[in-house]
Amino acid sequence: MKNNHEVADVFRLYGKDYQKQNFLSCKEQKTMHHITACRTAKLGGHIEKCNQCDFERISYNSCRDRHCPKCQSMVLVRRNRPIVFCILTRNDDKTLI
Ligand SMILES: [Zn+2]
Repeated sequence: MKNNHEVADVFRLYGKDYQKQNFLSCKEQKTMHHITACRTAKLGGHIEKCNQCDFERISYNSCRDRHCPKCQSMVLVRRNRPIVFCILTRNDDKTLI
């Protein structure tokens, strides 16, 4: 079973109550805000369009906060790009079906 809950969801649900009951430094509040806003319309975005089929989708900007789990996962992907590329090409026959 896949876990679809994100840290941002927890912050959205309980963040304000947590902040009322606990002291957070400005940096902690800022980080919480970044994680909550990451890849949402709050940070803006752009439209990605496929050159071959004209499929379009909205891609929201990331917060680029080093504490953000979403952004850190992309850092790991970029850092390990050769390994990720190898895994994708090795399994491309399975992903195309
Ligand atoms: Zn982020």
